[in-house]
Amino acid sequence: MNQTWNQHVVKKENKTLVLETIKTNTPISRARVAQLTGLNKGTVSSLVSELIDGNIIEESGPGESSGGRRPVMLLFNHLAGYSIAIDLGVNYILGLLTDLNGNIICEQRVHFQDKTFEHVMQRLFEIIEDLQQAAPESHYGVVGIGIGVPGVVSNDGELLLAPNLGWKRIHLLNVLEERFHLPIVIENEANAGAYGEKVFGVGQDFSNMVYCSIGTGIGVGLILEEKLYKGFNGFSGELGHMTIEKDGIPCRCGNKGCWERYASESALLEKALKLGLIEKNDVTPIQTLVALADNGLVEAIDLFTEIGEYIGVGLTNSINIFNPQAVIIGNQMAVTEKWIRPALERYIKNHAIGFHQEDLKIKFSSLTSHSTAYGMAAFTIEAFSIRFNNTISN
Ligand SMILES: [Zn+2]
Repeated sequence: MNQTWNQHVVKKENKTLVLETIKTNTPISRARVAQLTGLNKGTVSSLVSELIDGNIIEESGPGESSGGRRPVMLLFNHLAGYSIAIDLGVNYILGLLTDLNGNIICEQRVHFQDKTFEHVMQRLFEIIEDLQQAAPESHYGVVGIGIGVPGVVSNDGELLLAPNLGWKRIHLLNVLEERFHLPIVIENEANAGAYGEKVFGVGQDFSNMVYCSIGTGIGVGLILEEKLYKGFNGFSGELGHMTIEKDGIPCRCGNKGCWERYASESALLEKALKLGLIEKNDVTPIQTLVALADNGLVEAIDLFTEIGEYIGVGLTNSINIFNPQAVIIGNQMAVTEKWIRPALERYIKNHAIGFHQEDLKIKFSSLTSHSTAYGMAAFTIEAFSIRFNNTISN
């Protein structure tokens, strides 16, 4: 074994541990960091010095002490850099500029009808450039750009297929790297949403959860044993295309009877349109339907019940497979909680295997339309931390 290499790896791991401890417990004294990490005080002191040199940690005035000399407190410098986090949807782009704690500094949202790659890229570039302009002066500037996309993404950032955009085999990571010369992270929107809820939202207390992004389609992000589970090639979570009806309604994926054809926002809106509950040109049709149900219109309430049951069908399958602590319903459909929750809970109660229901929590996203963007902020900031800790003076 190469001794120097081992020392290098240990030091890197210790530095990550010290930084994470300060970040989570800020403000904190050096002595407390030593206590929490189990590292000796000398090691903590030298690693803290490196972190201060790197402008990622600051010293503040004395903290509280129960007698004796008051310790100097360490603070995580969340303004040392900024992340740009994008949720690239099927007909919208949501862009956030966040600090290193994920606080939103600036937010932009645009809608688009023209789904051609050239048009959408132009809009995307404009939003990113605007957010870059909005970033305050800082030591590291914009540390990276993360884009959540509604499709299948390879491990090296190629968007292989985005059926609801009609895009195939686009190397998004390369396109963005060439344009912005910044570190880029590309991830599937449901994976990003799951991670957003895990880091910032209702998923913080769960180590095993199924996040179900229900919008135009349905995508699922899995947090298993605290980690995002992506599968061998990064393609896990296509539960929207599990068959729930043999020879059912045809789907864009080529199969028939896929779950998303019965339980997605598009399924809801198609039926609402047929029933004459909404107009074709309504720009906020879900809100219209919720208002109709709130006003007691039976057709709207029944439609939500039907969709809620179909959501329950897919959730029941995923509960039986993964035995999660929580299922979280996110994206557009989360705003209909009041009207779909009773139906989907009833379905799960009557159909999921009993043992799997013990301790199971059914939650609706607290970040709603922002889960994916928050997740991309978390990925981008983590990638920056890893790069930062890799630059170690030996
Ligand atoms: Zn399908």
